[in-house]
Amino acid sequence: MLSTWQSITLWKRVLIGLVIGLAVGLGVRYGLGAEQAKEIGNTWFKPFGDAFVRLIKMLVIPLVFTTLISGVTAMGDPKKLGSLGAKTIGLYLLTTLFAVSLGLAIGTFVKPGEGVKYANADPPTEESTPDATEKNADGEPENKNVAAVQKKLTAAAESGTFVDRLLEIIPTNPVEALATGAVLPTIFFAVMVGIGILTMGESAAPVKDFFDAAAEVVMAITVMVMELAPIGVLALMSWVMATQGIEVLSNLGWLAFSLYLACFIQIIFVYGGLIVGGILRLPLMSFFRGVADAQGVAFSTASSSGTLPVTINCAEKNLGVNKSVASSVLPLGATINMDGTAIYLGLIALFAAQAAGMPLTATQYVMVAMTATLVSIGAAGIPSAGLLLAATVLDVIGIPEEQALLVIAFIYPFDRLLDMMRTVTNVTGDVAVACTVAKWEGALDEDEFRRPPVTTKPTSES
Ligand code: ASP
Repeated sequence: MLSTWQSITLWKRVLIGLVIGLAVGLGVRYGLGAEQAKEIGNTWFKPFGDAFVRLIKMLVIPLVFTTLISGVTAMGDPKKLGSLGAKTIGLYLLTTLFAVSLGLAIGTFVKPGEGVKYANADPPTEESTPDATEKNADGEPENKNVAAVQKKLTAAAESGTFVDRLLEIIPTNPVEALATGAVLPTIFFAVMVGIGILTMGESAAPVKDFFDAAAEVVMAITVMVMELAPIGVLALMSWVMATQGIEVLSNLGWLAFSLYLACFIQIIFVYGGLIVGGILRLPLMSFFRGVADAQGVAFSTASSSGTLPVTINCAEKNLGVNKSVASSVLPLGATINMDGTAIYLGLIALFAAQAAGMPLTATQYVMVAMTATLVSIGAAGIPSAGLLLAATVLDVIGIPEEQALLVIAFIYPFDRLLDMMRTVTNVTGDVAVACTVAKWEGALDEDEFRRPPVTTKPTSES
């Protein structure tokens, strides 16, 4: 029985977990009622989901650190890093600009904010979102989401200026960066260690061998953890559906529709048609089959940073992206490339402007596009990060702070289902760019790309 289950390709098992989770969660929600479903979801489903999320998160820093050092040393020439970095950042920016334009076009066409009266909307209730339940346990009477959001926004505003953030990429204490899970400083330090090893040549060979082996070990653990993905995804989906239901989609109506539509177009046409079909000239099906595990995990966890080990694994093992490219392009992508988030930020700006009956000028459109791109770069790959940073975009079009707070607080309780979709987009975009950069660098194994993913088992020779 178990071996039959394991003989099914992982992405199909993840998909099965997702569908069963959806059915179980919705069954509980609509069979037993919101109160009981919330109780069951939090008590019975969430712990299993959390265990899975913690297992993958446990691997993020060890994986980024070891695979990146091993990847840089495998490149053989530190100069290659420059061209790799330039191509990566250029492509990330380009796809994000595409995404935000798409979001703005669909938002203009669908008009998700027209007629919305968020100020008079029912105050979001505690069970509206799993996240809100956690954050608002101190139980302020009504509009507790406004208070919770305000707290988060203040914390974000106090976390320093843009220049401070840039400087923080250089860790004064690398051990602290590793210990606190700071991805960008970890990338920075790992690249420096890799360059150091290359500079030292033969005399650093033992250090290089150590990190090569360490990277394989962490990859092997990732593969083991991935075997639990179908159950983890099932638990997370059941939890979200039981505690939240799908009313969210109708509550946010056209905003949800616009986001899902834009993300689908971005994934199918931009990553699929344009990048994989047009630039890579490779079969779309192979790409989507290869990235499906990462998409399933991204959808259920709503965190691209949390999905990173799975993303790297998919790119290397299923799509033939060489480890030097995968280990450098993907961690960077998980932190700075968020196309789904950029689409969302553009949409929220239009949503707020339309709700306020405020037509936007062409200049304001451009301002929104630029700000949404920058904000999506700064957003962390964690749940709801994009929404909490929306205030900056709203500010650019002249929405007053109190109003912005209301908009964010209105959406916040229902954000999870939207977040799931934009995280899938974020992660798929990272992988599409990684494949492209790999192709340009002559580091894409196209046979591997075309080959259907095999059931992944850690092997000593892989
Ligand atoms: N949850 C998204 C991610 O991790 C970020 C967002 O909130 O848009 O990629």
